[in-house]
Amino acid sequence: MGQDRDGGWRIAPGEFLRLAEGVQIIVEVGIDPMSYAREQYQRRVRAPTVCPNCGAAQALEAHGYYLRWVTAALCGLLVQIAVRRFLCRHCPVTVSCLPHFAQPYRLVCNETTEAFFEGQTQRRDVERWQELLARYRRAYARFWRELRATCGAFFGRSPPREQPPGFWRRIMDACGGLTAATGRLVHALGVTPFGRYRCHQRRDFSGSGRKRSRAAPGRSTPTQPVYGTGVATPQCSRA
Ligand SMILES: [Zn+2]
Repeated sequence: MGQDRDGGWRIAPGEFLRLAEGVQIIVEVGIDPMSYAREQYQRRVRAPTVCPNCGAAQALEAHGYYLRWVTAALCGLLVQIAVRRFLCRHCPVTVSCLPHFAQPYRLVCNETTEAFFEGQTQRRDVERWQELLARYRRAYARFWRELRATCGAFFGRSPPREQPPGFWRRIMDACGGLTAATGRLVHALGVTPFGRYRCHQRRDFSGSGRKRSRAAPGRSTPTQPVYGTGVATPQCSRA
């Protein structure tokens, strides 16, 4: 897996198919990237009690990990982390549990990205990753109209003549920061501030004929706080 010119992840064909079969949720882990990696925190990530794809209860079983890189806030160092995955026996899709500090398919962590968008150019991590962060800003600038249309009144009504910085600020104010905003966007709308991606598309099981659990499809009931699902109150956790 590499990075494209806009700082998004470029996924090799085989990997893309694999990821496209999956659903990603964002989980609050309560620690920063360095600690996550050092403590091998992925081993402590529990399976959601309900499959976020099909709604089947108690259907998720351990399905290994995948490795990805993320930057650490403040110092800006790169950290490799393992992302926990589960497999649903009912769908079956893989469900990966991305720690809250990471932005889906983006290398730079949420805290650094948020600082960059706030103009904190003197921070060491922002300085270190400013070229990549500038690409994130361009990706946001290209996507923001679609994002705003997708959000509708999710973050309140758009003021007249709203521009990209104003919409960004409105989302951050509504959620309390990029971490919580990403969680809400991913879980409620299947987008991030920077784009839409296929691995969050839920499958249509309407014609499967299989027995369904009572849980509403698409509503995750995890065993640990998950951003944006209504299970845990979204709040900005600064990794
Ligand atoms: Zn499922």
